[in-house]
Amino acid sequence: MKYFSNQHKLCRTFLAGLLTGMLGLVIGGCGKDDVEQTKEQQVLQVLATTTHLADLARQIGGDKIAVSSLMNPGVDPHSFRASAQDINRLHSADLVLYHGLALEGKIAQVLESAKASRQAYFSPCEEVSSSSLIYSGEANQSIDPHLWFSPDIWTSCARVLSDQLAKVLPEYKENFQSNLEAFENSVRQVDQWGQSLMLSIAEPQRVLITSHDAFQYFGQHFKVKVVGLQGINTLVEAGLADRANLVDFIRRHQSPALFVESSVNPKALEEIAKESGAVIGGTLFSDALGAEDQTVPGIDGKPLSAATWQGMMVHNLSTIARALNRQL
Ligand SMILES: [Zn+2]
Repeated sequence: MKYFSNQHKLCRTFLAGLLTGMLGLVIGGCGKDDVEQTKEQQVLQVLATTTHLADLARQIGGDKIAVSSLMNPGVDPHSFRASAQDINRLHSADLVLYHGLALEGKIAQVLESAKASRQAYFSPCEEVSSSSLIYSGEANQSIDPHLWFSPDIWTSCARVLSDQLAKVLPEYKENFQSNLEAFENSVRQVDQWGQSLMLSIAEPQRVLITSHDAFQYFGQHFKVKVVGLQGINTLVEAGLADRANLVDFIRRHQSPALFVESSVNPKALEEIAKESGAVIGGTLFSDALGAEDQTVPGIDGKPLSAATWQGMMVHNLSTIARALNRQL
């Protein structure tokens, strides 16, 4: 049904574009802009809630879809609230990709209403098997939503997304499949490089202390102990006891560095670093990727876009290894 619904919508969009073009011809001739606008309108307009999902959609969809992100780089998805303009964007996109698992906590209702009003609304993350998920909070009731930090889970999300795009645009199925294979290969390369980099850190020092508890999948995959000042979302501030416990932990384990996150206010962690004698080891990308024009050094030293999963992981892995190996 999603496919037919989209086809109808695309068909309507195409006809509207055609009519606009014809009108342009009648009024003042069919200009270049009209042709380009019509072409653009024929491409499936995909709106992803987070920067991670927008990147995944760009890498799998390639030039067969046009992707934009509801949230900007540096924006915390846990506390993000939608403006009237955002709601319009959600309702006018051909396909909305959302993360789910309570990541977009403050816009859950907005997403639900968008979901009720349209069929082209999809999460590539909600089909992950429960045995792969990490549970947290009281009585382990909450699913940790930070799935992108597991190369295995994120590639499984990519496969689900590729299948979904092939259902919506079956004529491009092979393109999506070959983009998926390229994505999986590059993830594997980063993963293998990252695993050996993490092993270069002496085991007692392999402790990742961050602002909020976003890195459990990362820790499980790369065999790094993870400690977050705040829980799996940023909505509940750490209390004095949490801060004191963390200072005590750092002193007992002689942890050399703490890491702030690009989407979380660094103030609390900076104070803890001062009090405990540890240093800030750098800024990690956690719940948001970098800006489109921002680059980070890749595995081979060449610039890599910080707005990609690969850029995020290579930057995070290098930053962590440098600080925990005391190479600052
Ligand atoms: Zn988070």
